[in-house]
Amino acid sequence: MLLAAKTDPDQGARGVSLLLVDTQTPGYSRGRRLEKLGMHAQDTSELFFTDVDVGPDALLGPAGSGFKTMMKELPQERLLLAIAAVAAMESAVQWTRDHVAQRQAFGAPLSDKQTIRHRLAECHTNTLVARSFLNDCLGRHLAGELDNATASAAKYWCSEMQFKVLDECLQLFGGYGYMREYPIARAWVDARVQRIYGGTTEIMKELVARSMF
Ligand SMILES: Cc1cc2nc3c(=O)[nH]c(=O)nc-3n(C[C@H](O)[C@H](O)[C@H](O)COP(=O)(O)OP(=O)(O)OC[C@H]3O[C@@H](n4cnc5c(N)ncnc54)[C@H](O)[C@@H]3O)c2cc1C
Repeated sequence: MLLAAKTDPDQGARGVSLLLVDTQTPGYSRGRRLEKLGMHAQDTSELFFTDVDVGPDALLGPAGSGFKTMMKELPQERLLLAIAAVAAMESAVQWTRDHVAQRQAFGAPLSDKQTIRHRLAECHTNTLVARSFLNDCLGRHLAGELDNATASAAKYWCSEMQFKVLDECLQLFGGYGYMREYPIARAWVDARVQRIYGGTTEIMKELVARSMF
């Protein structure tokens, strides 16, 4: 595993190193598998390192350079999370469009109701705007020019919009939307963590703000 460890606690960020740790090393163990609200296809568990002894060969890059290396790669991770957000929105809008077009209520498809059509139009528009911003970020990334603040803006805005759009789509599914056999239900619970992991929305906003002052 790739592990970020404090190799010199007195040095703050400059005391973090990246270590490649063989999980067969004595002292390494996995704890319980944590019960998450969503993302059930992905296991997340406690990890313990009891007197795990690694030599200098385990170092990835120079000692103390771990934080800097991670900071360099974080825009790509944030971009990946924005991609997942937009993909989820695009799927949700499609599923919901299909559902309201076939679901009959009061003798007509739900899609005949203007309030339903307009809410879905908003979801679609929000998704188009997110996709446009994402495509711009992808272009910057391919050119090696995606900066930290723009990646942070994409991560927080797309994941916040993902949750908003998915919540609205789930509402348009009515009771079906609360049933786990419907993909919208799973997409909705999986969306919640997007605003937390990979850097919370609050921290992303702080990074954007820092670039402005
Ligand atoms: C399913 C899952 C998978 C994960 N996978 C990984 C992984 O693979 N690798 C990894 O390294 N981490 C992973 N994480 C950890 C994740 O990145 C952190 O949980 C996340 O960054 C938030 O940190 P925290 O939990 O310590 O929250 P805290 O720091 O305790 O924050 C709690 C709240 O306070 C807010 N807050 C904190 N500081 C500030 C501030 N300065 N200003 C304003 N608000 C603030 C936060 O935004 C949040 O709302 C994962 C988490 C989850 C749930």
